[in-house]
Amino acid sequence: MINIVIFGAPGSGKGTQSELLIQEYGLSHISTGDVLRGQIAQQTELGKIADSYISNGKLIPDELMIDILDKVLDSMQDSKGVIFDGFPRTINQAEALDKLLAKRGASLDIVIGLEVDEDELIKRLINRGKTSGRSDDNLETIQKRLDVYHSQTNPLREHYIKKNIYKAIHGVGDVTKIFGEIKHAIDSL
Ligand code: AMP
Repeated sequence: MINIVIFGAPGSGKGTQSELLIQEYGLSHISTGDVLRGQIAQQTELGKIADSYISNGKLIPDELMIDILDKVLDSMQDSKGVIFDGFPRTINQAEALDKLLAKRGASLDIVIGLEVDEDELIKRLINRGKTSGRSDDNLETIQKRLDVYHSQTNPLREHYIKKNIYKAIHGVGDVTKIFGEIKHAIDSL
């Protein structure tokens, strides 16, 4: 079993590279953003709570998010491994992830950090907003999400560097070339 966190700021290409990883390795994929948007679309109680955070560019509270992840992991018992996309986003969530995996006799193998400069991120997210229909792909919310990323999520980079499982990947340029570097890092495990 191989467990991969695909890490990076909003707009860094996590979703795109996750798709390629799924095709290449046949792994399960958890995008916590997709899970939440699914709940919003179905107008569930959880969706109603999530909507207020997402459209303000804020993070959903850790306990709620960890609980959701625990349930999704239960549905992936027989998986060859999991790509975590958009989780963890706080140190609390990272610690919870270790516990959730340990409970299943597994651990995190690698954190792929897609590193993209801020101007490029904003450009990509504004562009995506033209077609994504996402309530948070507008300039005001993008700025908030990037602030939240810097204050709450970016500390995870150091956290995983210390644990020796962080692999930095320059996330600008040809998508296939970026994927080649990711693949190399995974195949070297
Ligand atoms: P994403 O699709 O990963 O960009 O996530 C969109 C939004 O969903 C984020 O801005 C948060 O409001 C919420 N979200 C997704 N994943 C998490 C998480 N792990 N912790 C808290 N909030 C999250």
